[in-house]
Amino acid sequence: MPDRLNDSYYRSAANAWETQPTLDSGLDCDVVVIGGGFTGLSAALACAEKGLFVILLEAQTIGFGASGRNGGQLIPGLRWSMREIDEEFGRERAKAIFDLAWGAGARVHDRIVKHDIQCDLKSGHLEAAYKPGHFEDMQREAEFLSREFGWDSVEVVAPADIGRHINGGDYHGGLYETKGGHFHPLNYALGLAKAALAAGVLIFENTAAQRQLDRGTYVEIQAGAGSLTANQIIIATDNWTGDIAPELSSYTVPIMNYNIATAPLPDADQLLPSDAAVADSRFVLNYFRLSADKRLIFGGGEKYVQRPPADIAGFVRKHMAEVFPSLARTTIDYAWGGAVGVTMNRLPHMGRKGNVFYAHGFSGHGALVTTVAGELMAEAVVGTMEQFDVFASLPHSRFPGGKWLARPLATLGLLYYAMRDRL
Ligand SMILES: Cc1cc2nc3c(=O)[nH]c(=O)nc-3n(C[C@H](O)[C@H](O)[C@H](O)COP(=O)(O)OP(=O)(O)OC[C@H]3O[C@@H](n4cnc5c(N)ncnc54)[C@H](O)[C@@H]3O)c2cc1C
Repeated sequence: MPDRLNDSYYRSAANAWETQPTLDSGLDCDVVVIGGGFTGLSAALACAEKGLFVILLEAQTIGFGASGRNGGQLIPGLRWSMREIDEEFGRERAKAIFDLAWGAGARVHDRIVKHDIQCDLKSGHLEAAYKPGHFEDMQREAEFLSREFGWDSVEVVAPADIGRHINGGDYHGGLYETKGGHFHPLNYALGLAKAALAAGVLIFENTAAQRQLDRGTYVEIQAGAGSLTANQIIIATDNWTGDIAPELSSYTVPIMNYNIATAPLPDADQLLPSDAAVADSRFVLNYFRLSADKRLIFGGGEKYVQRPPADIAGFVRKHMAEVFPSLARTTIDYAWGGAVGVTMNRLPHMGRKGNVFYAHGFSGHGALVTTVAGELMAEAVVGTMEQFDVFASLPHSRFPGGKWLARPLATLGLLYYAMRDRL
Protein backbone atom coordinates (compact mmCIF):
# COMPACT_ATOMS: atom_id res chain seq x y z
CA MET A 1 0.00 0.00 0.00
CA PRO A 2 1.32 3.50 -0.77
CA ASP A 3 2.68 5.19 2.36
CA ARG A 4 0.14 7.98 2.21
CA LEU A 5 -2.59 5.42 2.93
CA ASN A 6 -0.99 4.51 6.25
CA ASP A 7 -0.68 7.86 8.04
CA SER A 8 -3.48 7.06 10.48
CA TYR A 9 -4.34 8.73 13.75
CA TYR A 10 -4.77 5.23 15.17
CA ARG A 11 -1.10 4.32 14.59
CA SER A 12 -0.02 7.49 16.38
CA ALA A 13 -2.31 6.70 19.34
CA ALA A 14 -1.71 2.93 19.45
CA ASN A 15 -1.18 1.06 22.71
CA ALA A 16 2.18 -0.62 23.25
CA TRP A 17 2.64 -3.83 21.29
CA GLU A 18 5.66 -6.09 21.04
CA THR A 19 6.20 -7.02 17.40
CA GLN A 20 5.89 -10.77 16.98
CA PRO A 21 8.50 -12.85 15.12
CA THR A 22 8.35 -14.01 11.52
CA LEU A 23 7.91 -17.69 10.75
CA ASP A 24 11.12 -19.37 9.56
CA SER A 25 10.67 -23.04 10.49
CA GLY A 26 8.21 -25.92 10.24
CA LEU A 27 5.49 -26.27 12.89
CA ASP A 28 2.42 -28.39 13.47
CA CYS A 29 -0.74 -27.17 15.22
CA ASP A 30 -4.50 -27.72 15.42
CA VAL A 31 -5.64 -24.59 13.56
CA VAL A 32 -3.89 -22.01 11.40
CA VAL A 33 -5.61 -18.62 11.22
CA ILE A 34 -4.57 -16.45 8.29
CA GLY A 35 -5.08 -12.71 8.86
CA GLY A 36 -4.58 -10.56 11.95
CA GLY A 37 -7.67 -8.31 11.77
CA PHE A 38 -10.78 -8.51 13.96
CA THR A 39 -12.03 -11.68 12.23
CA GLY A 40 -8.80 -13.65 12.49
CA LEU A 41 -7.93 -12.45 15.99
CA SER A 42 -11.40 -13.26 17.30
CA ALA A 43 -11.26 -16.69 15.67
CA ALA A 44 -7.78 -17.44 17.03
CA LEU A 45 -8.70 -16.35 20.55
CA ALA A 46 -11.95 -18.33 20.55
CA CYS A 47 -10.18 -21.46 19.21
CA ALA A 48 -7.51 -21.18 21.91
CA GLU A 49 -10.22 -20.82 24.54
CA LYS A 50 -11.54 -24.17 23.32
CA GLY A 51 -8.17 -25.76 24.11
CA LEU A 52 -6.81 -25.81 20.54
CA PHE A 53 -3.21 -25.02 19.66
CA VAL A 54 -3.49 -22.09 17.23
CA ILE A 55 -1.00 -20.31 14.99
CA LEU A 56 -1.99 -16.95 13.49
CA LEU A 57 -0.18 -15.56 10.45
CA GLU A 58 -0.29 -11.86 9.60
CA ALA A 59 1.33 -10.68 6.36
CA GLN A 60 2.08 -7.23 7.78
CA THR A 61 1.39 -6.17 11.35
CA ILE A 62 -1.63 -6.79 13.60
CA GLY A 63 -4.50 -4.54 12.50
CA PHE A 64 -2.78 -3.54 9.24
CA GLY A 65 -5.95 -4.14 7.19
CA ALA A 66 -9.36 -2.52 7.53
CA SER A 67 -9.50 -3.40 11.25
CA GLY A 68 -6.75 -0.96 12.14
CA ARG A 69 -7.87 1.90 9.91
CA ASN A 70 -11.68 2.02 9.94
CA GLY A 71 -14.04 4.71 11.20
CA GLY A 72 -14.49 2.95 14.54
CA GLN A 73 -18.27 3.22 14.23
CA LEU A 74 -20.05 0.46 16.12
CA ILE A 75 -23.40 -0.15 14.47
CA PRO A 76 -25.44 -3.21 15.52
CA GLY A 77 -26.73 -5.32 12.64
CA LEU A 78 -25.86 -5.68 9.00
CA ARG A 79 -26.13 -3.47 5.90
CA TRP A 80 -29.73 -4.67 5.44
CA SER A 81 -32.54 -3.40 7.63
CA MET A 82 -34.34 -5.98 9.77
CA ARG A 83 -37.45 -5.44 7.64
CA GLU A 84 -35.50 -6.40 4.51
CA ILE A 85 -34.00 -9.46 6.22
CA ASP A 86 -37.39 -10.57 7.52
CA GLU A 87 -39.03 -10.17 4.12
CA GLU A 88 -36.26 -11.98 2.26
CA PHE A 89 -35.56 -14.88 4.62
CA GLY A 90 -38.75 -15.37 6.65
CA ARG A 91 -39.21 -14.96 10.39
CA GLU A 92 -37.33 -18.02 11.65
CA ARG A 93 -34.10 -17.29 9.77
CA ALA A 94 -34.49 -13.57 10.37
CA LYS A 95 -34.63 -14.19 14.12
CA ALA A 96 -31.45 -16.28 14.00
CA ILE A 97 -29.67 -13.57 11.96
CA PHE A 98 -30.96 -10.89 14.32
CA ASP A 99 -29.66 -12.70 17.41
CA LEU A 100 -26.16 -12.91 15.97
CA ALA A 101 -25.85 -9.61 14.09
CA TRP A 102 -27.70 -7.38 16.54
CA GLY A 103 -26.14 -9.28 19.45
CA ALA A 104 -22.63 -8.61 18.13
CA GLY A 105 -22.28 -5.42 20.20
CA ALA A 106 -22.72 -7.36 23.43
CA ARG A 107 -20.04 -9.87 22.40
CA VAL A 108 -17.57 -7.10 21.56
CA HIS A 109 -18.38 -5.38 24.83
CA ASP A 110 -17.78 -8.65 26.69
CA ARG A 111 -14.39 -9.04 25.01
CA ILE A 112 -13.39 -5.48 25.91
CA VAL A 113 -14.36 -5.99 29.55
CA LYS A 114 -12.99 -9.52 29.90
CA HIS A 115 -9.56 -8.64 28.49
CA ASP A 116 -9.49 -5.08 29.84
CA ILE A 117 -8.92 -3.65 26.36
CA GLN A 118 -8.19 0.08 26.48
CA CYS A 119 -9.83 1.25 23.25
CA ASP A 120 -11.74 4.46 24.15
CA LEU A 121 -15.12 2.70 23.96
CA LYS A 122 -18.06 5.16 23.95
CA SER A 123 -21.76 4.39 23.63
CA GLY A 124 -24.24 6.04 21.27
CA HIS A 125 -24.61 5.96 17.49
CA LEU A 126 -26.73 8.25 15.35
CA GLU A 127 -27.88 7.41 11.85
CA ALA A 128 -28.72 10.82 10.41
CA ALA A 129 -31.40 11.11 7.71
CA TYR A 130 -30.09 12.76 4.57
CA LYS A 131 -33.58 13.06 3.04
CA PRO A 132 -37.06 13.25 4.63
CA GLY A 133 -37.92 9.91 3.01
CA HIS A 134 -34.94 8.30 4.78
CA PHE A 135 -36.34 9.52 8.12
CA GLU A 136 -39.72 7.94 7.36
CA ASP A 137 -37.95 4.63 6.63
CA MET A 138 -36.03 4.93 9.89
CA GLN A 139 -39.20 5.44 11.89
CA ARG A 140 -40.73 2.33 10.32
CA GLU A 141 -37.58 0.33 11.07
CA ALA A 142 -37.45 1.43 14.73
CA GLU A 143 -41.08 0.53 15.20
CA PHE A 144 -40.56 -2.86 13.51
CA LEU A 145 -37.47 -3.68 15.58
CA SER A 146 -39.32 -2.92 18.78
CA ARG A 147 -42.61 -4.65 17.91
CA GLU A 148 -41.28 -7.80 16.23
CA PHE A 149 -37.87 -8.29 17.86
CA GLY A 150 -38.16 -6.53 21.21
CA TRP A 151 -35.21 -4.27 20.33
CA ASP A 152 -35.92 -1.10 22.29
CA SER A 153 -32.55 0.60 22.40
CA VAL A 154 -33.28 2.70 19.29
CA GLU A 155 -34.68 6.18 19.80
CA VAL A 156 -36.31 8.14 16.97
CA VAL A 157 -34.82 11.64 16.91
CA ALA A 158 -37.21 14.19 15.40
CA PRO A 159 -35.71 16.82 13.06
CA ALA A 160 -36.27 19.47 15.73
CA ASP A 161 -34.22 17.47 18.26
CA ILE A 162 -31.26 16.54 16.08
CA GLY A 163 -29.18 19.31 17.71
CA ARG A 164 -28.97 17.15 20.83
CA HIS A 165 -26.50 15.01 18.88
CA ILE A 166 -25.11 17.09 16.02
CA ASN A 167 -24.80 20.72 15.11
CA GLY A 168 -24.23 20.64 11.38
CA GLY A 169 -25.30 18.83 8.28
CA ASP A 170 -28.95 19.87 7.90
CA TYR A 171 -30.27 16.41 8.66
CA HIS A 172 -33.96 15.44 8.62
CA GLY A 173 -33.99 13.58 11.93
CA GLY A 174 -32.39 10.24 12.67
CA LEU A 175 -32.14 7.11 14.77
CA TYR A 176 -30.08 7.13 17.95
CA GLU A 177 -28.91 3.66 18.98
CA THR A 178 -27.79 3.44 22.59
CA LYS A 179 -26.25 0.00 21.98
CA GLY A 180 -24.11 1.43 19.18
CA GLY A 181 -21.07 3.58 19.78
CA HIS A 182 -17.46 4.01 18.74
CA PHE A 183 -13.95 2.88 19.62
CA HIS A 184 -10.29 3.06 18.66
CA PRO A 185 -10.23 0.12 16.25
CA LEU A 186 -6.50 -0.55 16.17
CA ASN A 187 -6.37 -0.70 19.96
CA TYR A 188 -9.27 -3.16 19.96
CA ALA A 189 -7.31 -5.33 17.49
CA LEU A 190 -4.14 -5.09 19.59
CA GLY A 191 -6.17 -5.95 22.70
CA LEU A 192 -7.56 -9.07 21.04
CA ALA A 193 -4.04 -9.99 19.92
CA LYS A 194 -2.70 -9.66 23.47
CA ALA A 195 -5.57 -11.78 24.76
CA ALA A 196 -4.82 -14.37 22.06
CA LEU A 197 -1.14 -14.50 23.05
CA ALA A 198 -2.14 -14.90 26.70
CA ALA A 199 -4.42 -17.79 25.69
CA GLY A 200 -1.47 -19.55 24.04
CA VAL A 201 -1.82 -18.51 20.37
CA LEU A 202 1.46 -18.17 18.49
CA ILE A 203 1.37 -15.04 16.32
CA PHE A 204 3.76 -14.50 13.43
CA GLU A 205 3.82 -11.01 11.93
CA ASN A 206 5.35 -10.00 8.60
CA THR A 207 4.60 -13.55 7.51
CA ALA A 208 2.37 -13.90 4.47
CA ALA A 209 0.71 -17.24 3.83
CA GLN A 210 1.59 -17.95 0.21
CA ARG A 211 -0.21 -21.20 -0.43
CA GLN A 212 -2.61 -23.53 1.37
CA LEU A 213 -3.39 -27.08 0.41
CA ASP A 214 -6.15 -29.26 1.85
CA ARG A 215 -4.84 -32.84 1.92
CA GLY A 216 -8.14 -34.23 3.24
CA THR A 217 -6.94 -35.39 6.65
CA TYR A 218 -4.74 -32.34 7.25
CA VAL A 219 -3.78 -29.02 5.65
CA GLU A 220 -0.42 -27.60 4.59
CA ILE A 221 0.49 -23.92 4.52
CA GLN A 222 3.58 -22.31 3.02
CA ALA A 223 4.26 -19.01 4.75
CA GLY A 224 7.23 -16.66 4.92
CA ALA A 225 10.35 -18.82 5.15
CA GLY A 226 8.51 -21.63 6.94
CA SER A 227 5.69 -24.10 6.60
CA LEU A 228 2.84 -25.32 8.79
CA THR A 229 0.64 -28.37 9.03
CA ALA A 230 -2.70 -28.28 10.85
CA ASN A 231 -6.08 -29.95 11.03
CA GLN A 232 -7.94 -26.86 9.82
CA ILE A 233 -7.40 -23.39 8.37
CA ILE A 234 -9.39 -20.24 9.01
CA ILE A 235 -9.02 -17.65 6.24
CA ALA A 236 -9.65 -14.15 7.57
CA THR A 237 -7.90 -12.03 4.96
CA ASP A 238 -10.88 -9.97 3.72
CA ASN A 239 -9.72 -8.02 0.64
CA TRP A 240 -6.75 -10.33 0.11
CA THR A 241 -8.74 -13.58 0.27
CA GLY A 242 -8.29 -14.19 -3.47
CA ASP A 243 -4.50 -14.35 -3.01
CA ILE A 244 -4.72 -17.42 -0.80
CA ALA A 245 -8.03 -18.90 -1.99
CA PRO A 246 -8.46 -17.83 -5.66
CA GLU A 247 -11.88 -19.51 -5.90
CA LEU A 248 -13.24 -16.93 -3.42
CA SER A 249 -11.84 -13.84 -5.12
CA SER A 250 -14.89 -12.95 -7.23
CA TYR A 251 -17.25 -12.77 -4.24
CA THR A 252 -15.93 -9.35 -3.18
CA VAL A 253 -14.58 -6.15 -4.70
CA PRO A 254 -12.41 -3.63 -2.80
CA ILE A 255 -13.86 -0.12 -2.56
CA MET A 256 -11.41 2.52 -1.40
CA ASN A 257 -12.52 4.74 1.48
CA TYR A 258 -10.65 7.60 3.15
CA ASN A 259 -10.50 9.12 6.65
CA ILE A 260 -9.01 12.22 8.24
CA ALA A 261 -8.37 13.30 11.82
CA THR A 262 -8.32 17.03 12.57
CA ALA A 263 -6.15 18.60 15.23
CA PRO A 264 -7.89 18.52 18.66
CA LEU A 265 -10.87 20.92 18.46
CA PRO A 266 -11.66 23.38 21.28
CA ASP A 267 -15.36 23.39 20.30
CA ALA A 268 -15.64 19.64 19.67
CA ASP A 269 -18.47 19.17 22.19
CA GLN A 270 -20.59 21.76 20.40
CA LEU A 271 -20.29 19.91 17.10
CA LEU A 272 -21.26 16.54 18.61
CA PRO A 273 -22.84 17.29 22.01
CA SER A 274 -23.75 13.70 22.93
CA ASP A 275 -20.38 12.33 21.73
CA ALA A 276 -22.24 9.87 19.49
CA ALA A 277 -20.70 8.44 16.36
CA VAL A 278 -22.69 9.66 13.35
CA ALA A 279 -23.23 8.11 9.92
CA ASP A 280 -25.59 9.62 7.40
CA SER A 281 -28.09 7.61 5.38
CA ARG A 282 -26.61 8.07 1.92
CA PHE A 283 -25.32 5.15 -0.14
CA VAL A 284 -21.89 6.81 -0.25
CA LEU A 285 -22.04 8.01 3.29
CA ASN A 286 -20.26 10.52 5.48
CA TYR A 287 -19.40 9.16 8.94
CA PHE A 288 -17.67 10.90 11.81
CA ARG A 289 -17.04 10.95 15.53
CA LEU A 290 -14.73 12.42 18.12
CA SER A 291 -11.54 10.73 19.26
CA ALA A 292 -10.66 10.55 22.95
CA ASP A 293 -8.52 13.68 22.53
CA LYS A 294 -11.35 15.55 20.76
CA ARG A 295 -10.26 15.35 17.17
CA LEU A 296 -12.95 14.95 14.55
CA ILE A 297 -12.38 11.68 12.73
CA PHE A 298 -14.23 11.99 9.45
CA GLY A 299 -14.75 9.50 6.62
CA GLY A 300 -16.38 10.54 3.41
CA GLY A 301 -16.46 9.85 -0.30
CA GLU A 302 -15.42 6.67 -1.99
CA LYS A 303 -13.10 5.93 -4.85
CA TYR A 304 -13.73 3.11 -7.24
CA VAL A 305 -10.14 3.01 -8.44
CA GLN A 306 -7.42 1.56 -6.23
CA ARG A 307 -5.04 4.50 -6.67
CA PRO A 308 -5.48 6.94 -3.75
CA PRO A 309 -6.04 10.64 -4.42
CA ALA A 310 -2.77 12.59 -4.43
CA ASP A 311 -4.17 14.69 -1.57
CA ILE A 312 -6.28 12.47 0.69
CA ALA A 313 -6.82 15.24 3.24
CA GLY A 314 -8.12 17.60 0.54
CA PHE A 315 -10.37 14.86 -0.88
CA VAL A 316 -12.08 14.23 2.49
CA ARG A 317 -11.97 17.85 3.68
CA LYS A 318 -14.60 18.95 1.16
CA HIS A 319 -17.06 16.37 2.54
CA MET A 320 -16.30 17.47 6.12
CA ALA A 321 -16.83 21.14 5.19
CA GLU A 322 -20.26 20.33 3.75
CA VAL A 323 -21.32 19.00 7.16
CA PHE A 324 -19.33 21.41 9.33
CA PRO A 325 -18.61 24.61 7.35
CA SER A 326 -16.72 26.02 10.35
CA LEU A 327 -14.06 23.35 9.82
CA ALA A 328 -13.39 24.22 6.16
CA ARG A 329 -9.91 25.50 7.00
CA THR A 330 -9.17 23.60 10.20
CA THR A 331 -5.86 21.77 10.58
CA ILE A 332 -5.88 18.14 9.50
CA ASP A 333 -3.20 16.14 11.30
CA TYR A 334 -3.73 12.71 9.74
CA ALA A 335 -5.21 11.35 6.50
CA TRP A 336 -5.33 7.70 5.53
CA GLY A 337 -7.38 5.15 3.66
CA GLY A 338 -8.22 1.52 3.21
CA ALA A 339 -10.19 -0.92 1.15
CA VAL A 340 -13.71 -1.98 2.15
CA GLY A 341 -14.40 -5.55 1.02
CA VAL A 342 -17.88 -5.49 -0.49
CA THR A 343 -20.04 -8.43 -1.61
CA MET A 344 -22.73 -8.27 -4.31
CA ASN A 345 -25.58 -8.19 -1.79
CA ARG A 346 -23.67 -6.41 1.04
CA LEU A 347 -24.01 -9.38 3.41
CA PRO A 348 -20.87 -11.08 4.78
CA HIS A 349 -19.67 -14.13 2.89
CA MET A 350 -18.86 -17.05 5.21
CA GLY A 351 -18.45 -20.70 4.54
CA ARG A 352 -16.52 -23.90 4.68
CA LYS A 353 -14.82 -26.04 2.06
CA GLY A 354 -13.35 -29.25 3.48
CA ASN A 355 -10.95 -28.22 6.24
CA VAL A 356 -10.96 -24.57 5.22
CA PHE A 357 -13.26 -22.01 6.86
CA TYR A 358 -13.56 -18.41 5.66
CA ALA A 359 -15.32 -15.12 6.36
CA HIS A 360 -14.93 -11.93 4.36
CA GLY A 361 -16.88 -9.13 2.64
CA PHE A 362 -18.42 -7.39 5.65
CA SER A 363 -19.28 -4.53 3.28
CA GLY A 364 -18.36 -1.60 5.52
CA HIS A 365 -20.27 -2.99 8.48
CA GLY A 366 -17.61 -5.16 10.05
CA ALA A 367 -16.48 -3.50 13.27
CA LEU A 368 -18.87 -5.56 15.40
CA VAL A 369 -19.91 -8.55 13.36
CA THR A 370 -16.33 -9.67 12.60
CA THR A 371 -15.89 -10.63 16.26
CA VAL A 372 -18.98 -12.83 15.98
CA ALA A 373 -17.79 -14.28 12.66
CA GLY A 374 -14.50 -15.29 14.27
CA GLU A 375 -16.25 -16.90 17.22
CA LEU A 376 -18.66 -18.78 14.92
CA MET A 377 -15.76 -20.16 12.89
CA ALA A 378 -14.13 -21.35 16.12
CA GLU A 379 -17.36 -23.15 17.02
CA ALA A 380 -17.51 -24.69 13.55
CA VAL A 381 -13.92 -25.90 13.84
CA VAL A 382 -14.89 -27.99 16.88
CA GLY A 383 -17.99 -29.28 15.09
CA THR A 384 -20.78 -26.97 16.32
CA MET A 385 -22.21 -25.74 13.05
CA GLU A 386 -25.65 -24.43 13.98
CA GLN A 387 -24.87 -20.72 14.37
CA PHE A 388 -22.08 -20.76 11.79
CA ASP A 389 -24.65 -22.03 9.29
CA VAL A 390 -26.94 -19.06 9.96
CA PHE A 391 -24.36 -16.88 8.21
CA ALA A 392 -22.87 -19.55 5.95
CA SER A 393 -26.30 -20.19 4.41
CA LEU A 394 -26.81 -16.58 3.28
CA PRO A 395 -27.10 -16.54 -0.51
CA HIS A 396 -24.20 -15.06 -2.49
CA SER A 397 -23.31 -14.43 -6.11
CA ARG A 398 -20.00 -13.75 -7.74
CA PHE A 399 -19.39 -10.36 -9.28
CA PRO A 400 -19.79 -10.87 -13.01
CA GLY A 401 -16.98 -10.11 -15.40
CA GLY A 402 -14.15 -12.36 -14.22
CA LYS A 403 -10.74 -11.13 -13.18
CA TRP A 404 -10.59 -8.05 -15.46
CA LEU A 405 -14.18 -6.84 -15.71
CA ALA A 406 -15.56 -7.54 -12.23
CA ARG A 407 -14.37 -4.27 -10.73
CA PRO A 408 -15.41 -1.97 -13.62
CA LEU A 409 -18.89 -3.55 -13.71
CA ALA A 410 -19.28 -3.32 -9.94
CA THR A 411 -18.13 0.30 -10.18
CA LEU A 412 -20.87 1.10 -12.67
CA GLY A 413 -23.46 -0.34 -10.29
CA LEU A 414 -22.08 1.61 -7.34
CA LEU A 415 -21.94 4.85 -9.32
CA TYR A 416 -25.62 4.40 -10.12
CA TYR A 417 -26.48 4.25 -6.40
CA ALA A 418 -24.15 7.14 -5.61
CA MET A 419 -25.97 9.20 -8.28
CA ARG A 420 -29.34 8.39 -6.71
CA ASP A 421 -28.10 9.99 -3.46
CA ARG A 422 -27.88 13.31 -5.30
CA LEU A 423 -31.40 13.22 -6.79
C1 LIG B 1 -11.63 3.14 5.69
C2 LIG B 1 -12.57 2.13 6.28
C3 LIG B 1 -13.54 2.54 7.17
C4 LIG B 1 -14.42 1.61 7.75
N1 LIG B 1 -15.26 2.04 8.72
C5 LIG B 1 -16.04 1.14 9.35
C6 LIG B 1 -16.84 1.56 10.45
O1 LIG B 1 -16.79 2.70 10.88
N2 LIG B 1 -17.67 0.63 11.03
C7 LIG B 1 -17.72 -0.66 10.59
O2 LIG B 1 -18.51 -1.45 11.12
N3 LIG B 1 -16.90 -1.11 9.58
C8 LIG B 1 -16.06 -0.25 8.98
N4 LIG B 1 -15.21 -0.67 8.00
C9 LIG B 1 -15.17 -2.12 7.68
C10 LIG B 1 -14.38 -2.92 8.73
O3 LIG B 1 -13.21 -2.23 9.07
C11 LIG B 1 -14.04 -4.31 8.15
O4 LIG B 1 -15.24 -4.96 7.78
C12 LIG B 1 -13.30 -5.21 9.14
O5 LIG B 1 -12.24 -4.53 9.77
C13 LIG B 1 -12.77 -6.44 8.43
O6 LIG B 1 -11.96 -7.16 9.35
P1 LIG B 1 -11.18 -8.45 8.88
O7 LIG B 1 -10.43 -8.95 10.04
O8 LIG B 1 -12.13 -9.39 8.21
O9 LIG B 1 -10.20 -7.94 7.73
P2 LIG B 1 -8.87 -7.03 7.87
O10 LIG B 1 -8.92 -6.16 9.04
O11 LIG B 1 -8.65 -6.39 6.54
O12 LIG B 1 -7.73 -8.08 8.15
C14 LIG B 1 -7.20 -8.93 7.16
C15 LIG B 1 -5.73 -9.13 7.50
O13 LIG B 1 -5.22 -10.19 6.71
C16 LIG B 1 -3.87 -9.91 6.42
N5 LIG B 1 -3.48 -10.73 5.28
C17 LIG B 1 -3.87 -10.58 3.99
N6 LIG B 1 -3.33 -11.55 3.22
C18 LIG B 1 -2.59 -12.33 4.04
C19 LIG B 1 -1.81 -13.50 3.84
N7 LIG B 1 -1.66 -14.06 2.64
N8 LIG B 1 -1.17 -14.05 4.93
C20 LIG B 1 -1.31 -13.49 6.17
N9 LIG B 1 -2.05 -12.39 6.39
C21 LIG B 1 -2.70 -11.83 5.36
C22 LIG B 1 -3.88 -8.41 6.14
O14 LIG B 1 -2.58 -7.84 6.26
C23 LIG B 1 -4.86 -7.91 7.19
O15 LIG B 1 -4.22 -7.47 8.38
C24 LIG B 1 -14.34 0.23 7.38
C25 LIG B 1 -13.36 -0.18 6.47
C26 LIG B 1 -12.48 0.75 5.93
C27 LIG B 1 -11.42 0.28 4.98
